Amino acid sequence: MAVYDKKSLKAEEFINHEEILETIRYAQENKHNEALIDEILEKAKPVLKGKGYTCAGLNHREASVLLACDIPEKIEKMYSLAKEIKLAFYGNRIVMFAPLYLSNYCVNGCVYCPYHLKNKHIVRKKLTQEEIRNEVIALQDMGHKRLAIEAGEDPVNNPIEYILESIKTIYSVHHKNGDIRRVNVNIAATTVENYRKLKEAGIGTYILFQETYNKKSYLELHPTGPKHDYDYHTEAMDRAMQGGIDDVGLGVLFGLEGYQYEFAGLLMHAEHLEAAQGVGPHTISVPRVKHADDIDPNVFDNSLSDELFKKIIACIRIAVPYTGMIISTRESEEVRGEVLDLGISQISGASRTSVGGYTEEERPHDSEQFDVSDQRTLDEVVNWLMKKNHIPSFCTACYREGRTGDRFMSLCKSGQILNCCHPNALMTLTEYLVDYASEETRERGYKMIESELEKIPNEKARAIARENIECIKNSDRRDFRF
Ligand code: SAM
Repeated sequence: MAVYDKKSLKAEEFINHEEILETIRYAQENKHNEALIDEILEKAKPVLKGKGYTCAGLNHREASVLLACDIPEKIEKMYSLAKEIKLAFYGNRIVMFAPLYLSNYCVNGCVYCPYHLKNKHIVRKKLTQEEIRNEVIALQDMGHKRLAIEAGEDPVNNPIEYILESIKTIYSVHHKNGDIRRVNVNIAATTVENYRKLKEAGIGTYILFQETYNKKSYLELHPTGPKHDYDYHTEAMDRAMQGGIDDVGLGVLFGLEGYQYEFAGLLMHAEHLEAAQGVGPHTISVPRVKHADDIDPNVFDNSLSDELFKKIIACIRIAVPYTGMIISTRESEEVRGEVLDLGISQISGASRTSVGGYTEEERPHDSEQFDVSDQRTLDEVVNWLMKKNHIPSFCTACYREGRTGDRFMSLCKSGQILNCCHPNALMTLTEYLVDYASEETRERGYKMIESELEKIPNEKARAIARENIECIKNSDRRDFRF
């Protein structure tokens, strides 16, 4: 029997089945232990140190106790703590991005995904470089600066060379005042050598969802194809980091397995990366299974209520305070609105999950990966965020200034976020407002920027931000950053 060891590089040791079962048992036993719950909440509180906050975070056992606790008053405390942590490290900024589907050719047999090999009726598409250019122009014309590229796993149709060429194409497009400044990559687990090539191509975050941490379920849910190899998939982030990628994004597909198991597994994965690679995950995504072409989400009997979903998000926020959290358009406007306050720091907007979807007038469904719940335009999402007092940010500065991995974490801890990320958000929002926004959004945005500028503590930084914002408004100069 494998023994739990968070430093080990072996999947069965750092995601240890017995340790997860023991964690769930411990959480059940202590879910009404109010003294312990108070102690855990106290430990997780942000503490002012020098100019910045620090936060202890929680281990998977402590966080699982919070998740199991069903005492309404304690849950309220969790929600307000999650909000406090979010504000301490991320402020009221929300980073915007969009997915770009390159190809839906896939040799895997994932039973929840319509791109599985046995699906013979779904339209298969792979974008040419010219088509990618056109998709990127359409995305730039909406105002996007940050993309997550998505592709099925197919060594013949989507080899690494195709992905690398596509990244080059994306970065090369500069339409009007637009450009894509950060390309995150969500492709299947691969070799250290390929991760090194992705790093050299200038990617931002490498994202790979675990789908489920439960090995037995994983093998059943991925019956055929290279993705069937649980260990290879689970150890992918270590290979990515060995290949030089500092920023990795974790996630599970909620609904496939029991949520307590996934929650503990996800946090154990984060603890493992910190222990073995010296830096935790840059982001965590929380996708839920959705209806898609030949996929009925009701077949999987672990679907979550919205209430439980919110609690999971808040508990992740409390446990890993420095990790960004992403929510996609799989979720409705209503759900997205509620979780913004519980720790989400990045959202997609105006997403199309079909291959070549952005250049079509009407949203195409033929090659879609899943149904999109939030179908609003980017302008609508941006306006909505500001109405809720969140600053939509198109910032991509950190990795371009070399602030990746633990260097990003130290920025968080040093209290420089308000002098750095905050003005960057305001300057990139100004770019959006000048170049792409509707009149109503622009007006609201300018007002917000005026009042948010006052929050920059350093006088010099405030003056520079103000000057740059005026420059963006009155010229074609773009891409200022701290
Ligand atoms: N093919 C790559 C891989 O194997 O990891 C990743 C790209 S895939 C396009 C992105 C993610 O979409 C998957 O990791 C999965 O979690 C999610 N996904 C697949 N089918 C889905 C569905 N029916 N509803 C919601 N999300 C789904």
